[in-house]
Amino acid sequence: MSDGPDFDVRDPTYRPLLGAQAVTTFERLEERTASALFEMLEDARGGSDEMADALPGIVDPKRRLPVCQKGCSYCCHATVLASAPEILAIAAQVRTLPAARREDVELRIHEGYARSSARTESERTAAADPCPLLDPDDGSCAAHEVRPFACRAYHSLDVAPCKRAFEARSPNPVLPIDVIAFRVPHATSFGVMAGVRARGLAPGPFELVRGLHEALSGADPTAAWLANEPVFTDDPASRDVVLPTRSTLDTLAHDVLHGGFAELDAGAASDAPLAPTTADDRRRARNQRKKQKKQARGR
Ligand code: SF4
Ligand code: SF4
Repeated sequence: MSDGPDFDVRDPTYRPLLGAQAVTTFERLEERTASALFEMLEDARGGSDEMADALPGIVDPKRRLPVCQKGCSYCCHATVLASAPEILAIAAQVRTLPAARREDVELRIHEGYARSSARTESERTAAADPCPLLDPDDGSCAAHEVRPFACRAYHSLDVAPCKRAFEARSPNPVLPIDVIAFRVPHATSFGVMAGVRARGLAPGPFELVRGLHEALSGADPTAAWLANEPVFTDDPASRDVVLPTRSTLDTLAHDVLHGGFAELDAGAASDAPLAPTTADDRRRARNQRKKQKKQARGR
């Protein structure tokens, strides 16, 4: 997906949110269970949605509102990247759909994967295939409640540019997207992935269709992922975006483990290995996390 605004993990406005989410994720995944994972993610989504909804109006009471609505889906024809927990949550949701619908969605996912995996990113842009979760009859998302942060961030203040970008098959459309409502889900998403990475799990991001195809090909992908089995593989066409993101996540995870979000702000590159730590390191990290939580609560 392309967009107007961007997101920088160093942005001081969103860094406390990113840091608090990273630390929360790390702590809640001490228990490596599907319920701990999905409850953490549900809370992260809820917090992000509430903040993305309320904050722009607080900053500017006269702001324009997004025009997105059910059935409007020009934006659902692009490559979407999502974290491993998000893909697992969507796969779990798909498996709870009524049998006939589930069969349709799963078939679209596996066919969508077969088509897209043979294409380069520019071929995908030209083809503009719909996301397999998009209902072809009513344009709704089969996983709306658990849709990825990348989709939650994408809401335009005017549908006309979305339509134009779709019709032109534009690879990098600049759309009128509310900057705050865009950056809050991204900060939350980076926080989730950093906490996951700090726990030594594979955070992603992964390409959504490929990831769903892989998750839905296994009996219990969440248990396998939590046991550090290689559930997901990288999409060659997304490598240029994914690899730098992974490197950023390593740095953020290092900061979670060493209580050092301040390090990155100071511009110091973290090149220490991710796995800590001495007892002293762990004690310092614990104290730092408590302090960050207190600061986040006081905001
Ligand atoms: S981002 Fe654009 S295409 Fe997507 S739902 Fe909103 S208005 Fe419609
Ligand atoms: S997951 Fe849902 S909201 Fe996101 S691109 Fe697919 S259909 Fe659209």
